[in-house]
Amino acid sequence: MKICEIFHSIQGEGVDMGTPTVFIRTSGCPLRCKWCDTLYAFSEGEEMSIDEIITKVEGYGVSRVCVTGGEPLLQKDIFALLERLLEKDHFVSVETGGALPVEEMPCIDNMRIVLDIKCPSSEMHEKMEFSNIELLGPTDELKFVISDRKDYDYAKEIISKYKPVCTIIMQPVWGSDLKQLVDWVIKDKLNARVLPQLHKIIWGEKRGV
Ligand code: SF4
Repeated sequence: MKICEIFHSIQGEGVDMGTPTVFIRTSGCPLRCKWCDTLYAFSEGEEMSIDEIITKVEGYGVSRVCVTGGEPLLQKDIFALLERLLEKDHFVSVETGGALPVEEMPCIDNMRIVLDIKCPSSEMHEKMEFSNIELLGPTDELKFVISDRKDYDYAKEIISKYKPVCTIIMQPVWGSDLKQLVDWVIKDKLNARVLPQLHKIIWGEKRGV
């Protein structure tokens, strides 16, 4: 499969924030979010076999692995890769952009689906596969990246309509007002966690960390 990069850092987003993690970033994405911060993942990368990927990941000696993109579900061998990682006793999170179905994803304790639902500021909100939301379990994450009040109101509507049972993350677009988003969530007593991107607080927009 086409891999953009593999690197060791800390998880900068979501409920695993701060945890040492090996990232496998696949290449290619069917979406074009207006604020996308991984444009290089649209086309960069090289073909790697599953064995080559596993060898590189095992070399870091880290238990947590995050498969991200781009869009990992575009890769035809993705489920075979996930199975191999799980066989090696890794805790695996898979970050997916919300446009492709997650129904074939393995459903076991040491795996987490991190599903984005894109809001209007992304200009990709009409491409979402909303039936994915009901497939998420309590240990999964549903993430909304919020740029403005319109995005926030949209996310609230989706939460109210689909009633997800997983953790709900509201993440401000990098550079937007974190405190404003916190104020809205507090005022509405929304059952969501407002989390910034830790890696960008530490390293800015540097790639591969
Ligand atoms: S889904 Fe992710 S990688 Fe694809 S365009 Fe949106 S932000 Fe970028």
